[in-house]
Amino acid sequence: MFESLSERLGSVFDRLTKQGALSEADVETALREVRTALLEADVSLPVARDFIKAVKVRATGQAVTKSVTPGQQVVKIVHDELVRFLAGDGEPDALKIDNPPATILMVGLQGSGKTTTTAKLAKRLKDKNGKRVLLASLDTNRPAAMEQLAILGTQIGVDSLPIVKGETAVQIAKRAKTQANLGGYDVLFLDTAGRLHIDEVLMDEVQAVRDIAQPRETLLVVDGLTGQDAVNVATEFNAKVGISGVVLTRMDGDGRGGAALSMRAVTGKPIRFVGLGEKMDALETFEAERVAGRILG
Ligand code: GDP
Repeated sequence: MFESLSERLGSVFDRLTKQGALSEADVETALREVRTALLEADVSLPVARDFIKAVKVRATGQAVTKSVTPGQQVVKIVHDELVRFLAGDGEPDALKIDNPPATILMVGLQGSGKTTTTAKLAKRLKDKNGKRVLLASLDTNRPAAMEQLAILGTQIGVDSLPIVKGETAVQIAKRAKTQANLGGYDVLFLDTAGRLHIDEVLMDEVQAVRDIAQPRETLLVVDGLTGQDAVNVATEFNAKVGISGVVLTRMDGDGRGGAALSMRAVTGKPIRFVGLGEKMDALETFEAERVAGRILG
């Protein structure tokens, strides 16, 4: 992941670190290249602009250009700013699952990896945190999606709410809440229906479910390969439903890393996890330090 962005920035920084004295014009030129690399990696223009501005403010000071290793200083500033853009200020990355049963609402477009991610998170909470988890699919339009979640549940040893035909999403959400309470579960995942595009029907349904379910977390699952579209989807969902975080899937693919960088800056919401494959354990918590390190190579 992030290969292309790393490579681009790598050559800029190689040159910078080799250079001894650095003029402000050198820094300007290098940052222009950084900006181009960011745009080519699908970082949105306003975010790239803000990023460069933030770096420039810190990089063109006397202390940097007159220092013994100006190139390395600029690289460090870029690194620090990357971490800041990716992570924001001190967001907790653990899921809020105290006070059981905690409901986690999973939202996103069809095909984003929502059902797979729901199961991955459930497995993680069960295996790593010893939590009792209940899964419920609200995708009444697609019986196959409901069955897919139940099958994954069996595979990972996690219970799922029995499927009752003819119920609405809100009715299923209510039944799931009751079951989670009665059954002594710690965490309830509600896997909402996705659609190919954002439309009003989808948003109305997710809002209705949210109001009934009162989720502790609302996680948006977006396909990391879709670049700028992923950021637009996140902006829409955040405005209409309110999300507490993002899971970026398919980060094992050869996508450009720009979505990750824009996501936090544009939506103000943190990336909490990244999906790194189809297997049930191919999920990692998102760590800004590590990702910034990878971007810089
Ligand atoms: P949904 O429609 O949003 O629920 O999407 P699914 O969970 O059914 O996922 C669609 C496809 O994407 C499936 O074939 C998944 O195995 C695959 N998938 C999900 N997450 C990842 C990921 O992080 N990496 C890769 N390579 N594939 C993924």
